[in-house]
Amino acid sequence: MGLDDFVNTFGAVCKQQYGGRIKKLTIDAKFTCPNRDGTLGKGGCTFCNVSSFSYEQGTEASISEQLKQGKQRSLNDSAKYIAYFQAYTSTYDEYQVLKTKYDEAIKDSDIVGLHIGTRPDCVPDDILDLLVSYQDKGTEVWLELGLQTSNNDTLKRINRGHDFACYQDTVQRARKRGIKVCAHLILGLPGEDYSDYLRSLNSVIETGVDGIKLHPLHIVEGSVMAKTWRHKGMALLTKEDYANYASELIRHTPKDIIFHRVTAYAKKPLLLAPDWCGYRWEGLVAIVQNLAANGGQGHYLSAQKN
Ligand code: SF4
Repeated sequence: MGLDDFVNTFGAVCKQQYGGRIKKLTIDAKFTCPNRDGTLGKGGCTFCNVSSFSYEQGTEASISEQLKQGKQRSLNDSAKYIAYFQAYTSTYDEYQVLKTKYDEAIKDSDIVGLHIGTRPDCVPDDILDLLVSYQDKGTEVWLELGLQTSNNDTLKRINRGHDFACYQDTVQRARKRGIKVCAHLILGLPGEDYSDYLRSLNSVIETGVDGIKLHPLHIVEGSVMAKTWRHKGMALLTKEDYANYASELIRHTPKDIIFHRVTAYAKKPLLLAPDWCGYRWEGLVAIVQNLAANGGQGHYLSAQKN
């Protein structure tokens, strides 16, 4: 019994499409972020320390070299991979610079896709058209948009520097071109509860979305929240609460939407809290148990139809 038995996962979809497991290889392509370089703000989103994004963050290796190293580390038997531009804001540069970096990734014959992680306010039309050009040549393209919540008050509080309307505009421009969008949501942000999580999920679904990533708020060293957590403490979701809320959201999600992730893992000492996020499988096991007991993806929607 695994997550695929209850959830439409990215892994299962790829297996069906490519006849084997497709692994995402994370790349640090040396981008920055307008919420850190002073263009929009400094200090970044209050939960963020980009070092927690990926194994490759901070590496000096070229994109080709990072892909090579990623393949050597992976135990993937299918030998097909997706280049995951994860660190910072992976559409935040000049058109030609972006094209050169994306081109370098896809020239590797084992790469079947590009997964581009970015902010909703950093995706102009010409970059969407560039992504379409890869898609037109058969590359699997995903645009991952960090939203975290649809609540504009929370977005302000966590210093995102954009609002929900900005997210909606980018999603509509991307999907109009046939680019698949994956929305990133965080459960447990300060001042939010389950009603906010559900509202964010429903807002994302109503806007139109192809994939979703869920993760619990966790405190990482070097973030603004780390200072608050040290000085005043912060209420963080327990593993049980997170598993329950995430599972409920999954039951509210139509079956055709693909989950790229349902929880998060971070390594100590970068991870400060909660402890359970430092164990790769704990959150996942709790979610699978909850789904097995109470119903899987789309459960509430199929119940409404009957
Ligand atoms: S989460 Fe993304 S947008 Fe926010 S500061 Fe970090 S890199 Fe920038």
